[in-house]
Amino acid sequence: MKRSKTQYLLYRLFTFHFIISLLVGSDRGKSKMSSTTINFCSIEFDIVKKGESNNCYIWLHGDERTANLAIRHHLKYYGGTAFLVKSKDREVPYRDTKIDPNRVFSRKGSFKAIKKFKPEWAPGTIKVALDELDQARKQFLSELFPDSNGVLVAVHNNFRGYNVKSELKYSTKVSLNPKENPRDFIICTDSTDFEKLSVGTYNVVLQDRPPEKDNGSLSWAAFRNGIRYVNVETRLGWLTKQKKMLEFVEESLQ
Ligand SMILES: [Zn+2]
Repeated sequence: MKRSKTQYLLYRLFTFHFIISLLVGSDRGKSKMSSTTINFCSIEFDIVKKGESNNCYIWLHGDERTANLAIRHHLKYYGGTAFLVKSKDREVPYRDTKIDPNRVFSRKGSFKAIKKFKPEWAPGTIKVALDELDQARKQFLSELFPDSNGVLVAVHNNFRGYNVKSELKYSTKVSLNPKENPRDFIICTDSTDFEKLSVGTYNVVLQDRPPEKDNGSLSWAAFRNGIRYVNVETRLGWLTKQKKMLEFVEESLQ
């Protein structure tokens, strides 16, 4: 008697789960946002995913708030996967120093980055840190890089003198519009993407030849791995502009 009651309860439980999974399954088409987290050593990211788009977005500098808002807005309309740094500051604590998250995407870059705010390291300790970063980077990039020829879009803001002219020496092709502010621009690493992006009105540069001194930025790591990479850079606070630039990239690179 007791056994059959247990069986009955199990049956009810199974039916309940079955109905719930059907409901969850039927929601898929509405492409709800889902959220998880990932770490690259001490650099933490929220991963926000919506819909089926292969495109990935990354926000690396916590003080560039406009870029965060622009990505969230873009995801609502176009879908994709966004990696959003969980930091309010540009630099993130690492061991007993701090690092710029966009300077640790190569071993050489990491070496410079971890010494920037802590020039002296005890013998042997710097190698341990670099090995750890190498290992973590490999895992992080395998999660970050898009599948099936998707595009990786890094979204940044500037608030100092930085502008497209600073990038010209690293660029192989350039399409500048004098009517555009030089602080609003797009960098890409794929020549076919450049052809598509340069027909628009924005400042666009192609960077498909890595510099001799790799500075550890994500763009070169993406390039080395054959990933289509685009950087959308606008002045801090120019949210509408950045939203429009993201939309332009999305529509141009379909
Ligand atoms: Zn930035």
